Amino acid sequence: MSDTAPSLKSYNILPGPEMGLVTPEYLESVAAAVRKHEIPLLKITSAQRLAIGGHGPEAAADIWRDLGFPDGPKRPAGVHYIQACPGSRWCKYGQLDSLELGRKLDKAVKDVALPAKTKLGLSGCGMNCCESYIRDVGLFGKKKGWTLIFGGNGGGRPRIGDAIARDLIDDQAVELTRACLSCYAAKAKPRERTARFMERIGAEVFRREVLGEVADCRPDGSV
Ligand code: SF4
Repeated sequence: MSDTAPSLKSYNILPGPEMGLVTPEYLESVAAAVRKHEIPLLKITSAQRLAIGGHGPEAAADIWRDLGFPDGPKRPAGVHYIQACPGSRWCKYGQLDSLELGRKLDKAVKDVALPAKTKLGLSGCGMNCCESYIRDVGLFGKKKGWTLIFGGNGGGRPRIGDAIARDLIDDQAVELTRACLSCYAAKAKPRERTARFMERIGAEVFRREVLGEVADCRPDGSV
């Protein structure tokens, strides 16, 4: 097999969709590119993104170009993705608008440099369909506001994140998320994920540190 021959193990995440939101135009572009290159695997990932597989590097580069990203995937350490459920605007159980909060967070933290990849999961109610307790940053909505969870992980060493504060309005949730990520960026070791970081420094120390920076947040020591 040559270097450029398709490998059954090739696997690329396509650019977009943000928070799983797609448009007919985006889907048509993806469908055209997949047909053009006879891509054998097109898959929705658990992170609400689209993946292609079974192709060579040239096809991957061409598809990224066709979708408007000529430089291909960028993988800086930082916010890897923001997942969000339909939230109160679309789901009958929703208490708060997780998609709207996702848009605000995307603007506020998407380009922040961090020690390791960091995933955000936003759920519009306590059912936690976006598994907010096992994301690096998780938020879920209740009648009185957002609860912010930090340091969760769903991988090989899973960890339930620590509740940092509750009853937050959108702006407080964004501000506190920024404070949590700043603290993590300043104190974590290189490539240390939030779960291991929280185990090392302790939830109480972290909570004191970040809540000191953000006024009017109601701390929550209980998970
Ligand atoms: S977390 Fe709540 S609001 Fe979001 S999809 Fe699930 S039930 Fe609906």
